[in-house]
Amino acid sequence: MPYEIDETHDPSLESWVESANDPATDFPIQNLPLCAFAPAENVDDGTAPIHVGVLIGDQVLSLSRMQVRGMLDEWERSHGVDGWFALNSTGVDAIAELDAAARRDLRRIVSRLLRSDAPDRAGLGGLLEPREGVLIQEPLVTIGDYTDFYASVHHATNVGTMFRPDNPLMPNYKWLPVGYHGRASSVVPSGTPIRRPKGQLAPANEGEAPAFGPSRLLDYELEIGAFVARGNDLGEPISIEEAEDHLLGLCLLNDWSARDIQRWEYQPLGPFLAKNFATSISPYIVTMEALAPFRVPREPRPEGDPQPLPHLDSEHDRTRGGFDITLEVHLASKQMRDRGMAPVRLSRGNFRTMYWTFAQMLTHHASSGCNMRPGDLIGSGTVSGPERSSRGCLLELTWNGGKGDPRPGTDRTPIELPTGEQRRFLEDGDEVILRGYCEREGFRRIGFGECRGIIEPAV
Ligand code: MN
Repeated sequence: MPYEIDETHDPSLESWVESANDPATDFPIQNLPLCAFAPAENVDDGTAPIHVGVLIGDQVLSLSRMQVRGMLDEWERSHGVDGWFALNSTGVDAIAELDAAARRDLRRIVSRLLRSDAPDRAGLGGLLEPREGVLIQEPLVTIGDYTDFYASVHHATNVGTMFRPDNPLMPNYKWLPVGYHGRASSVVPSGTPIRRPKGQLAPANEGEAPAFGPSRLLDYELEIGAFVARGNDLGEPISIEEAEDHLLGLCLLNDWSARDIQRWEYQPLGPFLAKNFATSISPYIVTMEALAPFRVPREPRPEGDPQPLPHLDSEHDRTRGGFDITLEVHLASKQMRDRGMAPVRLSRGNFRTMYWTFAQMLTHHASSGCNMRPGDLIGSGTVSGPERSSRGCLLELTWNGGKGDPRPGTDRTPIELPTGEQRRFLEDGDEVILRGYCEREGFRRIGFGECRGIIEPAV
């Protein structure tokens, strides 16, 4: 069943939490993203130390306390929900296993509770606390597996052109969403410092020995992450019609990449150590329900491209498979921060330009019978659009640090920072900030918050 627009998306809704009515907030009452948090003060009220929360303005609402107080009893009964409020690590995961109908009703309950005209606000003391005071640092779910795709044809074409100008896309690209199995253990929340990795670096000339040392070509990749909700049994594929029911929601994702390590190691089995040292995510999951007004048709394929095979195609995916999410990358060097300068924007693009949709990626992933589990994380691949200003990594923005194939018209100049510093790749002390938001005429703007990380020197 597709995610529908309902009363919770009404743009006229306001909340009695005043900060949620600020036009600039990412978290109005129409958003209600999920997170896990440790309360500032651990009150002994029957809840476990980690709560499931919903962000509203600058506050976080504890679903765990609502459950302990019996405020969700009726919802639990009607959906056969049993015991997920025991919020240990297993309990937190269980929210991902709710079916789409249970999640939709939970969203409606929370929305009604937080509206300006909510009938009973008196009993809500203690359910909310300032987001600033609490520790939101863990993803809502335990990430069992992490897979990263390569779903932007603009990114794939740019990168391919740099190294294989005559043959940028591999023959499989337009037939299947290319991906690789990543590393869940190094997925970290926004704000975690990123240690520059060491590794074997591609030799300057063919036939020479590689060096071992700190990566000199460290990069970010602007991506969207999708969390898997319900899983599938081993051997039982997910059909494309069902695929979106298996998705909980989206977050911002930075797939930190060491280009010199990557270039040396990637053939023939794909990226390995160049990407396994860290992947940052924003700690709030913007739910599939919240994103309903921002669904758009899948990006039409250019004339002459093959249509997807039937198992990767559906009417819903063609008409509503995309997401209209504006995505930005900002950078602040250490010198900029020391001098009190605001971060500069490096790029702005939109997630709707992707060649493959999340439904196609998930369907393809499970088409072999591979079992997906609640909390699995799927990265979209670098989100790049057709224009230079919408390229989602430095490799593309500076055209391989100025060393990519010099096609006429290719801009290979380094990035100029307001301090006069130049960037081809990331330097120690650089902070990368990803932002994302959805806007549509007739609907309230919602946002993803931020995904940040500062580069620390190699050990
Ligand atoms: Mn990636």
